[in-house]
Amino acid sequence: MAGAAERLTGDAIDSRNPATGDVLGSVPITAPGEVESVAEQVQRTQRGWALVPLPERLRVLRRATEVLVRRRDELAELISREGGKPVVEAAINDVGNATLTVDWVAKAGMGHLSPERLAGLALIRHKTHWIVYRPLGVVGVISPWNFPLAIPIGEVAQALAAGNGVLLKPSEHTPLVGEAIGSVFAEAGIPDGLLRVVHGYGETGAALCRAGPIKKVFFTGSVETGRKVMELAAKHGKPVMLELGGKDPAVVCADADLDRTVDGILWCSLFNSGQACAGIERVYVDRRIADRFVARLAEGARVLTPGNPADPDTQLGPMNNDLQYEKVATHIDQAVSAGATLEVGGPVEVPGSSGRYIAPTVLTGVDHSMPVMTEETFGPVIGVMTFATEDEAVRLANDSRYGLGASVWSRDVRRARLLAERIDAGMVWINDHAYSHGYGGGPWGGIKESGVGVTHSKHGFYEMTEKRLIAEDRGWFPYSDGVRRGFEAVVEAFLSPGRRMRTGWDRRDHILPYLGDLRIRRGRRG
Ligand code: NDP
Repeated sequence: MAGAAERLTGDAIDSRNPATGDVLGSVPITAPGEVESVAEQVQRTQRGWALVPLPERLRVLRRATEVLVRRRDELAELISREGGKPVVEAAINDVGNATLTVDWVAKAGMGHLSPERLAGLALIRHKTHWIVYRPLGVVGVISPWNFPLAIPIGEVAQALAAGNGVLLKPSEHTPLVGEAIGSVFAEAGIPDGLLRVVHGYGETGAALCRAGPIKKVFFTGSVETGRKVMELAAKHGKPVMLELGGKDPAVVCADADLDRTVDGILWCSLFNSGQACAGIERVYVDRRIADRFVARLAEGARVLTPGNPADPDTQLGPMNNDLQYEKVATHIDQAVSAGATLEVGGPVEVPGSSGRYIAPTVLTGVDHSMPVMTEETFGPVIGVMTFATEDEAVRLANDSRYGLGASVWSRDVRRARLLAERIDAGMVWINDHAYSHGYGGGPWGGIKESGVGVTHSKHGFYEMTEKRLIAEDRGWFPYSDGVRRGFEAVVEAFLSPGRRMRTGWDRRDHILPYLGDLRIRRGRRG
């Protein structure tokens, strides 16, 4: 049986290795009724954390980066054992990605969370405006199993940097990695109880969305569960940030570098056995190069056979759980029954492993009546269609309820950029795909049904904060005819159509006393 977790009626979740079925450990379930009091405990600690100066909070995050670096091998092995992904992939795509993100948060936090002075307006030069970023309080982070470290840790790090406390609910399939996240920040020196990890099934996640002290819910998972979370949070007056599923298209132009494109699309479709929100699942290729492209893609897919995830040479591991395996196998079967051609791939057995595996799969003769081209498959399956014109490629790429990522593959980067701008997706990469999750500076998020809001980047910090205006007045004046003439001259110079600077300059004898009357003092706040 595949599946990192077995649903038990008791008060613990057993974590299992999907490749062997071995029990790796066990975590206590937080009953839904207990979530409220855990959130209250976090809230008490958070009040003190919010008063810790920003540079000190960021110092703690720098130490978290050091802990991640020091514990990288242990974490990669745990992620591989609990999630089923090849150990090298776990080291690079999960631990490496997580480390880069936390490092970015620790370094960029000062720039994005410090009070921001706004540009002044000539008419109200005597007033100074600041945006200050205040923590929300306690935030809830609900995360999936596919990148059990890299996904939640970015949100946790941005939340802590902004002065929040966090209640983290990892997937039932990867509870031990969830525990490890708690221990990384504890080692880095966050106050006891500022980050609490609660385990359980959907009901525990739902209780988190209801809990009084939770000010915002950051959810990553399927569209279906995301909808439930949004409804529940709305009912309890809480905002949400949702990172949901995708059905990412890749558009391959006739002038694409075929070697790079085939390698890139194979990697971006097959990493984590295709169990990636921003994995390529649909390919639209210019019909002039379609035969060559499909032959090369199938040839490349054929040599990437699944195997034991603990072996450093393994490229693909088992599917993480039975449900996932069944869904992928069904999408392939449905497509073939409806007339698609299975160029290569399908379910396979790996000798000596009790895991459930799908070999890299390439399907042609597919169309948008088939779930494999319209619903998230979340497996190592690539459906390939052809297009005759760029307009057709854009229409096909946009014919989806999802809008997470997309890519354009072409040697002509200018043309690729124009095409990229026409694709409805939160992120469009050129001659690459999905890598930017590991670059903290870029926003990560989807449009259409793929999500609400973004994580990472300055916008990820803003999602974690209240934005407040602080305005200071630095002068006042008694009314007089001179003030009025000065005011009108400023309007004339800076605000009237065509900004008649010249007229303003001619009337400087009015402007200068006006500005002087405002007793403008230059310099920083304070
Ligand atoms: P799910 O939606 O099944 O679960 C996500 C999380 O929500 C889990 O922790 C789950 O707990 C919890 N949950 C389940 N039911 C509820 C509920 N009613 N209320 C609150 N929380 C609940 O997703 P998966 O874990 O299967 O992850 C795969 C999905 O995540 C794919 O659709 C993928 O595309 C998407 N994803 C999106 C990403 C993005 O950045 N846009 C990134 C990665 C994945 P439990 O596991 O215990 O059921």
